[in-house]
Amino acid sequence: MTSLKLESDLINNSTVVYDVIVVGAGFAGMYMLHELRKTGLNVLVLEEATGVGGTWYWNRYPGARCDVESMEYSYSFSEELQQEWNWRHRFSTQPEILEYANHVADRFDLRRYIKFQTRVSSVRYDQNKQQWLLKSSMKEEFQSRFCVMATGTLSSVNEPKFNGIKDYQGDWYITGRWPHSGVDFSGKTVGIIGTGSSAVQAIPVIAKEAKHLTVFQRTANYSIPAKNRSLINSEVEGVKSRYSEIRTEARSNRAGIAFLKAGIDSALSVSETTRTQEYQRRWDEGGTGFTAAYSDIGTSDKANFTAAEFVRNKIRETVQNTETAELLAPTNTIGCKRLCADTDYYETYNRANVTLLDVNSDPIQGLVEEGIQTEKNIYAFDIIVFAIGFDAMTGALLSMNITGKDGCNLKEIWSEGPKSYLGLSMFGFPNMFTITGPGSPSVLSNMMTSIEQHVEWIRDCINYMELGGHSEIEAELAAEEYWTNQVEEIARNTLRYTCNSWYVGANIPGKKRIFMPYAGGIPPYREYCDEVAQNGYDGFKIS
Ligand code: FAD
Ligand code: NAP
Repeated sequence: MTSLKLESDLINNSTVVYDVIVVGAGFAGMYMLHELRKTGLNVLVLEEATGVGGTWYWNRYPGARCDVESMEYSYSFSEELQQEWNWRHRFSTQPEILEYANHVADRFDLRRYIKFQTRVSSVRYDQNKQQWLLKSSMKEEFQSRFCVMATGTLSSVNEPKFNGIKDYQGDWYITGRWPHSGVDFSGKTVGIIGTGSSAVQAIPVIAKEAKHLTVFQRTANYSIPAKNRSLINSEVEGVKSRYSEIRTEARSNRAGIAFLKAGIDSALSVSETTRTQEYQRRWDEGGTGFTAAYSDIGTSDKANFTAAEFVRNKIRETVQNTETAELLAPTNTIGCKRLCADTDYYETYNRANVTLLDVNSDPIQGLVEEGIQTEKNIYAFDIIVFAIGFDAMTGALLSMNITGKDGCNLKEIWSEGPKSYLGLSMFGFPNMFTITGPGSPSVLSNMMTSIEQHVEWIRDCINYMELGGHSEIEAELAAEEYWTNQVEEIARNTLRYTCNSWYVGANIPGKKRIFMPYAGGIPPYREYCDEVAQNGYDGFKIS
């Protein structure tokens, strides 16, 4: 109790200079805090929300769940934790994942170092003091030697900017900022804008409750049945009995997922019958591992077409109304936008109370008092749901007005797209690290695998600085340029580069089109990061 009081005193004392301030208490911020505390550093976490969990705190929309299997979408750093926690579903629900995040916070006694309800709105480097000065939206000030941004890649919501939103008299909600009290759709007419992963999860659940659901689709997305189910004890025990082996496999897997069995053959090197059998097998197994069936689905148009056509035919088989089925059948390459995993998504369009509208043939003009006005119609709704995604990878960082050395401003520097060394550090911003920042595998992987790798690298780097008596570490400009070019060059060789996805920032009007995550896979990335550290932080200037 005494020490609890002491910590909260520290949190409220603006004269304290922390060794490290971490912004964000999602899975990244919590693990960073835990690791830094173990080394005895004085750490403070600043978090906008009232609780831990990040993504799983904010995204409480109906149907929200993970699409990396829970046994793998979880921390690996503590054998005790992974042995004692029991996942109940193959793909767990948001409440279950949030429960896990809260369990971790309690089990490792993290809360006392986290200041909740504190949104960081300004971050400035004081060159003379070699300290970061952070200010909250409530004008509180915090100082530290190191600053770690654990602010998330999919945490800054794409705010709805539709004309007339203020005129609309019904209720509206954003999937990524869902009310804690839930939303009662029963007997209501509902409109939902968007057909990405969030909408694909929410639509079947809302449809079951609402009187009528109208879906506004701009781009059809590929979705694979999740084939979610309750986990049985024997399979949980089976995984637990060789958990460390599975985690090691995950770290050496391109996507950070041990269960993902990637095919090594070209889709074009096998007969059509073999190929169809393999696609059917993966379809029946469920989950986004579908596109890993063959080695070239992500790189060859022809190979990609075989997988895309298989899914399109499944949509045509499932959806009874031919016109709706054709609208739902995507025309771009599969896997270019993030592949979705669903429970009864396409089946939902067979319900009498669900209508699909194509925003391209009848564009949305804005909101009016009754609902949504398109070029041709006005659709009246009791509730509108915006499932329109996030200002991914850069949004959260750029919303904090970060100023580094010589007054350099991150927003200005990134106006032509993000530049970073390894997605971990930026030139001009000494002693600052980003967890799963742009330029790292991040969103192209099981985020838990990537978060743990970054946290451990940053922990080791800060320890190196402490032990060596160094005061400043900063990415060199040449290293940053080299890495940013590498990220671009690797992405160019993939089909992911070719469509209007959030990976390239195309979902946000005016955002510079640049492929943000590192598409080379986890193993070479990890190897590169390790080598940098082993060579005395090659590409960094240390003073
Ligand atoms: P977040 O969980 O986003 O946490 C960032 C935290 O920083 C938030 O709590 C936020 O409030 C806080 N923050 C941000 N800015 C500020 C500020 N200025 N001041 C104070 N606090 C701030 N990944 C997978 O690998 N598998 C999945 O199945 C999967 N499912 C997903 C489902 C949804 C609905 C979404 C949106 C994402 C999903 N992701 C998934 C990606 C997911 O974001 C990561 O897996 C992971 O949860 C990210 O953790 P994080 O701590 O890095 O970021
Ligand atoms: P998203 O994938 O960006 O989807 C947003 C949807 O809204 C798209 O269909 C988009 O159309 C549409 N849209 C955006 N602005 C619009 C406008 N002005 N008018 C009409 N339509 C508009 O966002 P998300 O669904 O929230 O998912 C984001 C990411 O979060 C996912 O890719 C995934 O990484 C993660 N996630 C994972 C899960 C999971 O299954 N575990 C669930 C949810 C989210 P366009 O395609 O034409 O831009």
